[in-house]
Amino acid sequence: CGIIGYIGFREAWPIVIKGLHRLEYRGYDSAGVALMNGTLNIYKKAGKVSDLEKSVESEDLKGTIGMGHTRWATHGEPSDRNSHPHTSGDGRLAIIHNGIIENYSSLKEALLSRGHIFKSDTDTEVLIHLIEDIQEQTGLDLRESVRIALNEVIGAYAIVIMSKDEPDELIAARKGSPMVLGVGEKEYFIASDASPIIEYTKNVIYLNDNEIAYIKRNELLIKSIDNVIQIPYVQELELKL
Ligand code: GLU
Repeated sequence: CGIIGYIGFREAWPIVIKGLHRLEYRGYDSAGVALMNGTLNIYKKAGKVSDLEKSVESEDLKGTIGMGHTRWATHGEPSDRNSHPHTSGDGRLAIIHNGIIENYSSLKEALLSRGHIFKSDTDTEVLIHLIEDIQEQTGLDLRESVRIALNEVIGAYAIVIMSKDEPDELIAARKGSPMVLGVGEKEYFIASDASPIIEYTKNVIYLNDNEIAYIKRNELLIKSIDNVIQIPYVQELELKL
């Protein structure tokens, strides 16, 4: 299972697909990608990354913000509809997730009783509905809603979130699952390990547990989930040939 994200000035699709191939060694049963291009386009499929590529041959895969996922199913069988990205009820938010939301069933029950309708059997979809629900209930912005939702979640995760309403931003967070940010010039990369990033930049930030990164093309803000701003520590990767 693996995660890759890109925000910058280059086309995201080739970077994301190449990244997913680099992360294939981690094992997976399904793959999917979201691209921001005026709207939020989602492509996902059970099977190999190459199957996903074949299924989108006739699509217009434009966009300079994107995220990709390889899934190792824990909740819900491997299938197209259980593949990530998953979306909120209104389709404005999309999430990719590696890990397990352990308290997903009690969260899901509460959301069902408030009228949420789910399209998959995953724990992941519950988290994106929870974020949507918090936004609706509180009127807070997406950044705060994500932070509050993560405080209600028990489990392990590396997540990336995209929103139609924030078309120039990626939100990433982790607890217990690995996540690296690559820092370029007016571009950022997100990945489960540095292997998909190293050909673009050697400057990386290892996100710590319980940290959220709010990423725009030329602005990075990292906060802890209890809302304390973190000073990012940029490391230089050593090139091992
Ligand atoms: N628990 C999630 C699912 O089953 C994510 C699994 C993963 O780490 O790929 O969809």
